[in-house]
Amino acid sequence: MSNLNELTIVEASKKLAAGEITSVQLTEACLSEIEKKNPSLNTFLEVFADAREQARVCDERRAAGESHPLLGIPLAIKDNILIEGRKVSAASKMLENYVASYDATAIQKLKIAGAVFIGRANMDEFAMGGSNENSAFGAAKNPHDPSRVTGGSSGGSAAAVAGHLALGALGSDTGGSVREPAAFCGIVGMKPTYGAVSRSGLMAMGSSLDQIGPLAKTVEDAQLIFETIRGKDSLDSTSIDAATYPARVAKKKIGVPRHLLKEGIEQDVLEHFEAALKKLESAGYALVDIELPSAPLALALYYIIMPAEASSNLARFDGVRYGLSLKGDSLIDDYAHSRKEGFGPEVRRRIMLGTYVLSAGYYDAYYGKAIAARKVLAEECARALQEVDAIVTPTTPSPAFTLGEKSDPLAMYLLDIFTVTANLTGNPALSVPMGTVARDGKELPVGIQLTVAHGDEPTLFSVGRELQ
Ligand code: GLN
Repeated sequence: MSNLNELTIVEASKKLAAGEITSVQLTEACLSEIEKKNPSLNTFLEVFADAREQARVCDERRAAGESHPLLGIPLAIKDNILIEGRKVSAASKMLENYVASYDATAIQKLKIAGAVFIGRANMDEFAMGGSNENSAFGAAKNPHDPSRVTGGSSGGSAAAVAGHLALGALGSDTGGSVREPAAFCGIVGMKPTYGAVSRSGLMAMGSSLDQIGPLAKTVEDAQLIFETIRGKDSLDSTSIDAATYPARVAKKKIGVPRHLLKEGIEQDVLEHFEAALKKLESAGYALVDIELPSAPLALALYYIIMPAEASSNLARFDGVRYGLSLKGDSLIDDYAHSRKEGFGPEVRRRIMLGTYVLSAGYYDAYYGKAIAARKVLAEECARALQEVDAIVTPTTPSPAFTLGEKSDPLAMYLLDIFTVTANLTGNPALSVPMGTVARDGKELPVGIQLTVAHGDEPTLFSVGRELQ
């Protein structure tokens, strides 16, 4: 049987349940694709040597009567999510040889379901970036055009799914890092409601923004992974139970913040967006113009709050407690050497920015104001979502760009213009492919982003299905 790796999770799951294929065969198909493509795409930082053995155990579990839609399904795991006993580096020299001492809660849940972990997916160092070019171990390449970026920071996870090296993946999304690479690679990517998935065992970047999210070929597959990893967890006090959100009545209305679409978006991306809106209209949704007056500030707010939280979270990498440890003439020298050698330029930039906005003299001027404005933005989104089922925008203003094209960090940050809002407000959001645009003779995917009310993932998936 050939091309098993090209199946969706739902398709593979049916075949596994019917006894038509085994997890070992499915895993072998992914491994042979990895062997072919990983040397040029740099998707995985490590392919797990025991993947076949994991698959064999899954086949045994099925033979013994177990069943779960993810039992025996090979998944790629972003390299900032802990799997006990395995290396986890956050694509940083700082943690190059670090071994996880426990399972992330999402991983524990996937182990119970019986997923096969096929390898550690490449990413931007400590999840800081929008192109995967900040990985200390080289950029991952886009399967649609290897001269282009995958998007980031979960670039390896997205490329693994788009290139059929795995059937699905976990990524993490602090400002768009699941949705952006999903859009650039032509797959589905989802950021859950803040707290819907436990952050225990996810390396912290911006703790009030981070969520683990699924990347998959279809909305159904993404939903399957999300349903498996979600849930309140005693190890994460910010985790929530979906039942705490009141059920919502569908309005059959979609909100379009046209005031955000006036500039900076490439023309053919906008055309695809308009076509996707038409699709929603023919599915019976009314399109409503909405205003989110504070949304133009979202990028500025994000690039104050995220570095502030990251600078504090990354203080633990001091050359003493974790990972790289370099000796200097004094303790302070040890810290300085280890952090200078261990962290790449983007991580150091954000630590400096973060400590600056949190410093006594500037706290009120920057961090304090950003926190206040974040609240206003959340209220605006909540108000809009009382009138409509979902808010839609393109996921990114452009398709994947060429490696090295955005050497200016500010140009890179602009890529996040549509995605950061959902992290600031905690709303769940989904990127679904909306066709391809031609660049240099290649067809490059672009995505449409849906944002819904807190806890309203069912609407996210149902509207998402209309679009795919
Ligand atoms: N591109 C954004 C950043 O660099 C998002 C990162 C993320 O979501 N992890 O901060």
